[in-house]
Amino acid sequence: MQHYDAIILGAGAAGLMAAATAGQRGRRVLVVDHADAPGKKILISGGGRCNFTNIGTAPDRFLSANPHFAKSALGRYTPADFLELVEAHGIAWHEKTLGQLFCDGSARQIVAMLLDECDKAVRSGGSVDIALGQSIESVTHDGTQFHVTRGGKTFATPRLIVATGGPSIPKMGATGYAYDLARQFGLKVVEPRPALVPLTLGGEETLFRSLSGVASEVVARAGKTRFREAALFTHRGLSGPAILQVSSYWRHGEAIGIDFLPDCDGDWLLAAKRAAPRTSPRRALAQHLPDRLAETLAERLALPAELGAATDKALAAAQGRLADWPFHPNGSEGYAKAEVTVGGVSTAGLSSRTMEAKAVPGLHFVGEAVDVTGWLGGYNFQWAWASGRAAGEAV
Ligand SMILES: Cc1cc2nc3c(=O)[nH]c(=O)nc-3n(C[C@H](O)[C@H](O)[C@H](O)COP(=O)(O)OP(=O)(O)OC[C@H]3O[C@@H](n4cnc5c(N)ncnc54)[C@H](O)[C@@H]3O)c2cc1C
Repeated sequence: MQHYDAIILGAGAAGLMAAATAGQRGRRVLVVDHADAPGKKILISGGGRCNFTNIGTAPDRFLSANPHFAKSALGRYTPADFLELVEAHGIAWHEKTLGQLFCDGSARQIVAMLLDECDKAVRSGGSVDIALGQSIESVTHDGTQFHVTRGGKTFATPRLIVATGGPSIPKMGATGYAYDLARQFGLKVVEPRPALVPLTLGGEETLFRSLSGVASEVVARAGKTRFREAALFTHRGLSGPAILQVSSYWRHGEAIGIDFLPDCDGDWLLAAKRAAPRTSPRRALAQHLPDRLAETLAERLALPAELGAATDKALAAAQGRLADWPFHPNGSEGYAKAEVTVGGVSTAGLSSRTMEAKAVPGLHFVGEAVDVTGWLGGYNFQWAWASGRAAGEAV
């Protein structure tokens, strides 16, 4: 049986960061992944350019049953720290929008950087072996050592880091394996659900599907949480960054609200009536919105053909509806299309400093597997780097 100082399950963002960190501290590390290549989600992220962090990272941009849990790791490994690494590797980057940092070139550079950092382990007497392409058959614990069996071989270690992510995009090999292991060791799992995912419309809202391809800047709301970004109508319902963001907060059965005219004053429709009473509601809306959207919304508002024929009360009501248009999604496009998973291994059983299970010394959970989920825009990778780092420093 081969022995390692630490075994890491999952060669994704958090697993590779944990491996490089532990390896550079002189640890002999084995990383195990059933995929045929490391960092596959990194490669497809950010449209192939990897939105690797967000300079606006703050704990309130993460969802978790314990909103304080992420503070420690995020505070000790910041976007500036990751950026320093990116720059040290000569990777050119740019800020796209809203603090989102992307590679100028390719996400491959981020994977290459992480593998290079793993290789640096030898300088301090450590090593990082990466074993790909075989499923894990079992993980057991005899009280002091964990035994990981794959391909008929068993490896032993006193420290196990579970970095197998969440079940989003199963087509890419994503699984809920971390949850199975958590339960096996008596840890709780906060019910997982797809997040950063397009929402679907049915019933009488199906008619909005005819707007497929139309996008508009909106403020989308789920509960009290609001995001100002683009919304996109699709052939199944609603997508675009504003919708993906609210999808993480949305629960089945709830409505979401959309302010289609975030830049218009509260009485613009009344003002439009005063300025041009012969104008149709559709034309008034089309001054601020894409034509097809203006037409559909005007039809649904069922105002008279000319603004001048509508009462002020009716226009105020229409304006109120446009500022918080209720949609009743009948579902989401599910894990097949979700960028991340909300929920996961409960933080209640983990140390926020080391990601170690309080009841099972030596067992750590990092990255998306944990019940910490970031907003769209580089936050999820920042959590993967920070939590991976925290565990890598502890093993
Ligand atoms: C299309 C897409 C685009 C994204 N773009 C961005 C972006 O630009 N910015 C951002 O911040 N976030 C983005 N994300 C989210 C981000 O990719 C994840 O939050 C991040 O990869 C999580 O890191 P992780 O290491 O926890 O898990 P992962 O990176 O998913 O790594 C988990 C690893 O574990 C392996 N694994 C899983 N199950 C098993 C098993 N049973 N046995 C062995 N190995 C297993 C997987 O093969 C994988 O290599 C995107 C996600 C998707 C799907």
